[in-house]
Amino acid sequence: MPFGRQKLVAYVIEFIEHTDLEIQKIKSITKVIDQEPLMELNHFNFIKWSAQYYQHPIGEVFNACLPSLITKGEAAELAPELYWKLTDEGKIAEPKSNAVKQITLLSLAKQHQAITAPLLKEHQYTPGDLKPLMNKGWIEACQKQLNTDSISVNLLPSPFEVNKEQHQALAQIFSKKEQFQPFLLDGVTSSGKTEVYLRAIAQQLEAGKQVLLLVPEIGLTPQTVQRFQQRFIANIAMLHSGMTDKQRLNEWLKAKQGLTSIVIGTRSALFTPFKNLGLIVIDEEHDLSFKQQEGFRYSARDLALVRAQNLNIPIIMGSATPSMESQFNVETGRFERLTLSRRAGNAKPPHSKIFDVRQRSLQEGISKPLKEHIESHIAKGQQCLVFLNRRGYAPSILCHDCGWLAECNRCDRNMTYHQQLKRLHCHHCDRQVFLPKQCPSCQSEQLLPIGLGTERLQEVLSKLFPSKTVIRVDRDSTRRKDSMQNIVEQIKAGEADIIVGTQMLAKGHHFPNLTLVAVIDIDGCLFSADYRATERTAQLLTQVAGRAGRGETKGEIVIQSHHPDHPLLVNLFTQNYQQLSQQMLEERKAANLPPYSAQVLVRADANVISKPMAFLQDMANILNQYSQLSVFGPYPAPMMKRAGKMRAQLLLQADDKKSIQQILNAALPLVEKQKSANSVRWSIDVDPQEVF
Ligand code: ADP
Ligand code: ZN
Ligand code: ZN
Repeated sequence: MPFGRQKLVAYVIEFIEHTDLEIQKIKSITKVIDQEPLMELNHFNFIKWSAQYYQHPIGEVFNACLPSLITKGEAAELAPELYWKLTDEGKIAEPKSNAVKQITLLSLAKQHQAITAPLLKEHQYTPGDLKPLMNKGWIEACQKQLNTDSISVNLLPSPFEVNKEQHQALAQIFSKKEQFQPFLLDGVTSSGKTEVYLRAIAQQLEAGKQVLLLVPEIGLTPQTVQRFQQRFIANIAMLHSGMTDKQRLNEWLKAKQGLTSIVIGTRSALFTPFKNLGLIVIDEEHDLSFKQQEGFRYSARDLALVRAQNLNIPIIMGSATPSMESQFNVETGRFERLTLSRRAGNAKPPHSKIFDVRQRSLQEGISKPLKEHIESHIAKGQQCLVFLNRRGYAPSILCHDCGWLAECNRCDRNMTYHQQLKRLHCHHCDRQVFLPKQCPSCQSEQLLPIGLGTERLQEVLSKLFPSKTVIRVDRDSTRRKDSMQNIVEQIKAGEADIIVGTQMLAKGHHFPNLTLVAVIDIDGCLFSADYRATERTAQLLTQVAGRAGRGETKGEIVIQSHHPDHPLLVNLFTQNYQQLSQQMLEERKAANLPPYSAQVLVRADANVISKPMAFLQDMANILNQYSQLSVFGPYPAPMMKRAGKMRAQLLLQADDKKSIQQILNAALPLVEKQKSANSVRWSIDVDPQEVF
């Protein structure tokens, strides 16, 4: 479409018969890119509904939901898949004896009916290497016919029988296989949830249906993905960040045309179109990564429910630590709970202890009993996970002479010291500077790292256990491609005694020889202004604890704390997550907090705080006219300054999501017209998960 002086890619979403605009003002479409609609009506309506619900511009929502090549104007056409085969001439060809490459490729072609791109890659060749052979007429290129008839799905048998609880869960799922029914698969870590997914998926594949599996982060769950590949001989599309735009578009089109049986991906995979979707599975449904925290701020978990309902298909949400929302949905009868209460196979639940570190001397953050515990486990040849959810060397740098602190000048936060890079790094705005040699305020050279990050913890533990291998798993140590995979294999092969890790290691991994989980510092998570912090901490600790003792040997979890009597810590280990979450739900109910009410957070920012405050005040004045709505604020954001912007918030609450939607639909056009709106950037977060 012509747009001002530019030409932009646009989506036609509606036709109208009449308009009051003058005819000269109407422009015609320059070029129609696709000859067929990009999606079926049902999917289109789903995306439109999402845009409406999250109060986000429809064009941006389409851009977020479609493969990027489409948004750039590429036609939605499946690239033909090529393969190569030997010609009759090729069968009797006699290449020169010094043409080594040609000889090997010819013999490869003789061994295989079809040479495919993956086969070439496996032998370290590219399609370009075939050129000389094609020029001689020995090999010809052919196009693979892709159609749904050629789809074959083969299911390999499971290595074991399901246990009673798994059997019951599956019976429930099977009884609702062709209707909308959300299931909460509430199973402790290692209870065999994945096995339930696999069998539920198998049933749908056998019926010729497609399946969508959403996972928190593909790189972190390679083992789950591997298990899928081992169980199904089928077209499985894994949508991961390492794909090219072209590959992404092709996978999107293949799913749409029914050429793919299983799509595995992170939150944005939810918007994949399908020809015949029969089931949605969400693994680790409580995970925060299902909520997009910027731009189009949607919750893939919540939208998956809407999609399943539109398509009238079942949806399984699994977790060892279900979210409050899902527990609430069970309570109101919307979800059906399927419980797996015991670890599958032989694994037993871990034993837990809290170490009171008040007034105890800590050796760089580590108490004596903790050290002894680590010692006793590694002495037996077992592995320990030492958990600290803070990467870098130290969360701050302090001048010993004048008290200067290395703060980010663009955010209200300290800068983290990364020793390997010799840099200060702000984890909030990504600003990086070299560590100064002298204090910028008094020129002293006494700059001390304060506090403990994973980098420093690794150093401390290597000093305490010099003969042992200590490895670190955090975002910094796994930045390179495949490094996570390599580390996981290293741990599994027993080439590490102590693993220092952040929450990256909290989920999905199965290390049979890991018997001790030590939590170094959880105190910071126990006290927070955000009411969701309790839920998150309980989930995190339960998930981390779940890494211990997944094999034959019983596991143990120990936690150091200055607040050993904190109800969260005490309850978590005297009760289980299920009981604790019942209490948390009751607290939410008493305080009328979500999921017992609905919230919307409005954020605004500008170069000075008065601007967003003024805009949000104007907005509050408009919204205060609606008696069903409680308006809190405006107030400066908990982190007022971030990336150089001054930020403020307005919190809206109503009894239910519907009334909040109606009010927003009625009031937002007026809000947008406020003069104060022109001097701020602002956004709406429906069902917010974080208040920062
Ligand atoms: P979760 O997904 O709940 O963490 P998994 O499905 O990964 O649990 O199962 C944990 C381990 O127990 C895996 O090694 C799996 O192969 C095994 N397992 C699952 N179900 C059974 C079963 N019925 N009998 C024996 N082993 C099982
Ligand atoms: Zn100083
Ligand atoms: Zn910063």
